[in-house]
Parts: sequence; structure tokens; C-alpha cells
Amino acid sequence: MISRARLRSEGGQLVNEAARLERNRQRLTECWPSFSSAVRRVLDALEAQGFRPRIQDAWRSEEDQAKAVAGGFSDVFFGFHNVTGAGGRKEALACDVLDDDNPEGTPPKRYLLALAVAARAHGLETLIFKGLDKSEKATVEAAIAAGDIDRNVKLGNDPTHVQPTDITIAEAKAGKRPGGASLSASTISPPPEVFMALTDTEQRELVNRIRAMHIGNWVDSGTNQGDLTWLARIVGEQLAPLAARQQALEAALSNLAANQASDRQALARIVREQSEAAVRAVIGSNPAPTG
Ligand SMILES: [Zn+2]
Repeated sequence: MISRARLRSEGGQLVNEAARLERNRQRLTECWPSFSSAVRRVLDALEAQGFRPRIQDAWRSEEDQAKAVAGGFSDVFFGFHNVTGAGGRKEALACDVLDDDNPEGTPPKRYLLALAVAARAHGLETLIFKGLDKSEKATVEAAIAAGDIDRNVKLGNDPTHVQPTDITIAEAKAGKRPGGASLSASTISPPPEVFMALTDTEQRELVNRIRAMHIGNWVDSGTNQGDLTWLARIVGEQLAPLAARQQALEAALSNLAANQASDRQALARIVREQSEAAVRAVIGSNPAPTG
């Protein structure tokens, strides 16, 4: 990150503000879409009150998460910051939203309460209650419920961390996402005929990879890690001959239909000719009455 001092020397607040806005925009791209939109609305609400929220961290690698645990900044080895989708796509479900007007120190209480109020208004929550006892929690809850950001209350120990309310870390790790969206086997499985066309080894590898997508970790991470290219290639290779067979089948069906059409015409002609002959025969043996 560009230091504040350097930003000042480059033109002061305006440059710094542009950097803050750009950082927020970029960090939101690391988040699961519905969570990203909700955090965007939280930032908008804070900015409307004159605050200058800055997303410090959104997505984190599990390696960085381990460092956060080691540094005492987190107590989970897999948290909402680490949520990752198929192919290694960043789908963070947490943002640490700091106060850019207090970049070095702890954000003021009124900023943290405003963040908690805005988060709740947009279906999210902060960890503002974390570590508080029951009566302390009740005091903070009352301030949030009243929207009173100037109340002098004792806050919990991770009040800048914003996360969803309708999903657990375990569910997120297993592929579930907020708003009911989740990875399902059907959406990432190849059609059965493609599966059956694979060799046993390929079938096993495919199953492993689909399972890996579901748990968010590649089984053989490091070698063929994280790419859908393999899946696309295998499925593509198997689909090509199937597509050729389907074309041949469609051609045969269309020939059959054409034949049926010409057969029908021939039959109709025979029926018509025979009918005409029969009619003529009847007419011939029964001459029209005259006179
Ligand atoms: Zn966090």
C-alpha cells in the first residue's frame, strides 16, 4: 500500500482520497457478488455521514490467514476472508473496514458504531460484540438499536470485521454462499454420456476434481492446481465425437423424414390412381343415362 506520507507529498488529500476509493473498488472485486454489493451499500452509508471507510483486507490466502492467526489478529485458520471458489476464484465473505481518517490508530468508537449500524441495516454484521460479557453486549446492542453512534460504550475486539449473518464459516468452506446460492454437483458435473466415455482413471480424476471444487481445495494442489482448463479439455475431447455422432443421427433422421414424405406421396398417388381407375370402371360399366 502507498504510504500516507508519500500520498501527502504527491498532492495531499485528493490523491489519498482517490487511492482510498480505488482500493475499496478493487477489494470489493475479491468478494462474493452479493456480499460485495452489501458492503458497497455499507460504505455508501458511512461516506454519506462523512466517514472515510477503507477496506484494509477482503480476500486472504490461507497462508496469510495463518500469519493473521500467528499475529493474534484472527483466531480461525479458515475464515470468511479465505473463501475461494472454483479455479481459485476469490469469493471473500469478510472485509476489514478501517477508518482512513485514523489510519495508524484504533478507529474512534463513533466510527465503529456507525459501521455496526450500517452493517445491520444492510443484512451484515461486525464482530463488535466479540469478547464482551453479557451486560456489555446488551449495552452495545442498545446503542446499535438506537442508532446512537455517540454513546460511550465498551466495544468488542474485532469491530472493523464485516461478515454475512446467514451463513457459517463451515458452510462457506463447503461451497455454500449467502442468499441461498451454492455450488451444486449438477451444475459442475459433465453429462452422463461424457462421463461414461471417460476411462476409469479419467472418471476418478474428474470425481476428485469436482469434489475438490466443492470443498474449495484442489485435491492435488500444486500440480494441476485450480484450473478448469483440464475439465474443459477432457469434456471437450469427449463431446467432439458425440457431437459428430449426433450430427450423423440427425442427418439419418432427416433422410428418413424425407423418405417418409416421398413414400407418402407415392402411396397417395397409387390410392388416387386406383380410385380414379375404379371410378372409371364403374362409370364404364354403367353408362350415363341418355335422353
Ligand atoms: Zn476480518
